[in-house]
Amino acid sequence: MWGHRMSIKVAINGYGTIGKRVADAVDAQDDMEVVGVTKTGPSFGCDLAVKKGFPLYCTFDDADRIARFAEQGYECSGSLSDLLAIADVVVDCSPGKMGADNLAKYQNAGVKYMFQGGEKHALTGLSYTSSANHTENLNAEGTRVVSCNTTGLSRTLVPLYEHCGSLKVECTMIRRAADPGDSNKGPINAIKPVLKVPSHHGPDVMTVKPEIEINSLAVAVPTTIMHVHAIIADLPEGHGLTTESILEMWTDTPRVIIMHGSDNRITTTAEVMEMARDIGRKWGDLHEIFVWEDGVKLVGDRLYYFQAIHQESDVIPENVDCIRALMGTEPDWQTSVAKTDAAISKYYNC
Ligand code: NAD
Repeated sequence: MWGHRMSIKVAINGYGTIGKRVADAVDAQDDMEVVGVTKTGPSFGCDLAVKKGFPLYCTFDDADRIARFAEQGYECSGSLSDLLAIADVVVDCSPGKMGADNLAKYQNAGVKYMFQGGEKHALTGLSYTSSANHTENLNAEGTRVVSCNTTGLSRTLVPLYEHCGSLKVECTMIRRAADPGDSNKGPINAIKPVLKVPSHHGPDVMTVKPEIEINSLAVAVPTTIMHVHAIIADLPEGHGLTTESILEMWTDTPRVIIMHGSDNRITTTAEVMEMARDIGRKWGDLHEIFVWEDGVKLVGDRLYYFQAIHQESDVIPENVDCIRALMGTEPDWQTSVAKTDAAISKYYNC
């Protein structure tokens, strides 16, 4: 039983784009704490951990690698094994497809584990988004928080599905080529279709909500700020919804923002990101899925809409809820979401 425990001890393995954000979001909560973060070696990224006061560990159990931290002036508290020994749960934020190697380490250490969307569902046989399947993840040994795209689709489609009882969806993912901090990815002057059809993004929603029938196409475009989804959803007969009532439904949905593009002069992803910076979000993050009000239209039983996803941050609050699910400390997803978001917004001072 975890109910009486003061604080869930969270290890972050991989302190990059996602890892540093998850660490801050965990640090913002009063029921969990960061017991350490790993880096593969000394680099400027270590400075942030030091500034935050997160104990720094080496990703590997290798004395030479550990020694390199001290050579560059960083205090290293030990190896990944040392960190796992003091953790209740590890959030794996390593680059995609490293999960299989890391999974064995977590299981040997007897610690609960969470992977990110760069890993396949098959690695854990269980995936997570807050609104779709928090309950299924309660007290599980390990799971995978789905990707930024799948999280975004789940945010708007799950409430629609809950209302309608069935849903058939086709969507096109217009994906940013790289994160702003990446220097080795592209395209820089081309549009690159994903030639594996359908793309994995849509069907991945079915790992958290198998009842939603969904397929997707994907293209990568030369931008670093946000993905855009162009979505067509066929609602069943007798759904009783209108464009207005769907907008109301999403207005009441946590972690979804509805704004009128033309009225607010916020018609592109550049302006959405500028708004996130204006409201004071750390790193200019936007945890919410952004839906353009004037881009939503129900025509007969067919719903058309666009949404924008801040790829680096929409999964961050989901990771916090997922920790509570695995530890079995909060059975109700909405209670967890409210707690997570209140703490993050206070911490991020916005
Ligand atoms: P990243 O490259 O920014 O960070 C990964 C970090 O892990 C780096 O600090 C790297 O040095 C470290 N690392 C390298 N090898 C490691 C190992 N064997 N074990 C532990 N750590 C190791 O990557 P990211 O963008 O933060 O992605 C992390 C995961 O999150 C991936 O599965 C990715 O698909 C997923 N994800 C990324 C985004 C995004 O937009 N960046 C969004 C959602 C999900």
